[in-house]
Amino acid sequence: MAVDIGGTKTALAIAAPPPEANGAYLARRRFPTPATGRETLDTLLAITRELAADHAVAGIGVSFGGQVRTDRPPHLKSLVVPGWEILDLRAEFARAFGGAPTLIANDGEAAAHGEYVSMPAGARRDTLAYITVSTGVGGAFLLNGRPHRGRHGLAAEVGHIPVRPGGRCPCGGTGHLEAYASGPAIAQAAEARLTNARSSLHDVIRERGSLTAKDIDQAARHGDAFATMILGEAGTLVGRAAALIGLLLDPDAIIIGGGVAQAGDAFWHPLHTAARLDALHPTEILPARLGPDSALRGALELARMAATELPPK
Ligand SMILES: [Zn+2]
Repeated sequence: MAVDIGGTKTALAIAAPPPEANGAYLARRRFPTPATGRETLDTLLAITRELAADHAVAGIGVSFGGQVRTDRPPHLKSLVVPGWEILDLRAEFARAFGGAPTLIANDGEAAAHGEYVSMPAGARRDTLAYITVSTGVGGAFLLNGRPHRGRHGLAAEVGHIPVRPGGRCPCGGTGHLEAYASGPAIAQAAEARLTNARSSLHDVIRERGSLTAKDIDQAARHGDAFATMILGEAGTLVGRAAALIGLLLDPDAIIIGGGVAQAGDAFWHPLHTAARLDALHPTEILPARLGPDSALRGALELARMAATELPPK
């Protein structure tokens, strides 16, 4: 069973164990993430019980949109949805599903697993860095297909790499990548600087009162110079972070996914330029193949690992 808990949406799916089903789901559901961790978990348990009623659950994989600490509690912490700190997700799933083992990873790592297993066998890269640019900015390292989580489980917290002094980050720090490149940060930058700019985004503001990163991408795709500049600044900083990862890890590829990565050339061109400019050697940079589905696909891979590598509780 695969679960993808996001800040705005939560998805879940069940699949037969491999080799019968190679990533094909038997059933799949999605719901808007409720306001607290407790409500989200209760909704999840109700739906998963219904979905799994006719199946024995062998393993559960969870992609969590937040920090997953491996060293000490609280193991789960979301900057968007409060209340996960006091919950024991693993124990509650084990109780609900006959002791089935659960593996939890942050959404960056889950997406990296999803991208890794969906690469064509001949084109698989052994050492991967993954950057997710979405409501937040995160990441993961896969070394020979296995996650490198670090001493605290906080390796590859790409969103909190200092990139430019100033901007306030949701973590409380300043100047971090997430303060400039997350979807909300891009929207905020556009809103703050729109007043004196010539841009079609004025129409969106008049209509709706605020902007999203998607609005800015749409405007940029129609040739709006202001929107192109705003997206380009975010792309440049993500490219710099990618160059830094290239220098530190020299991976076979860096995959960039998440909602913001669905943006067009206005984001990607400056990203590639910055990544090349700051690098000693070119690192292959690829857009995520599965788009928004990579975390759920990765959660299924975590479920497979849980079923085959962990003892039942
Ligand atoms: Zn930060």
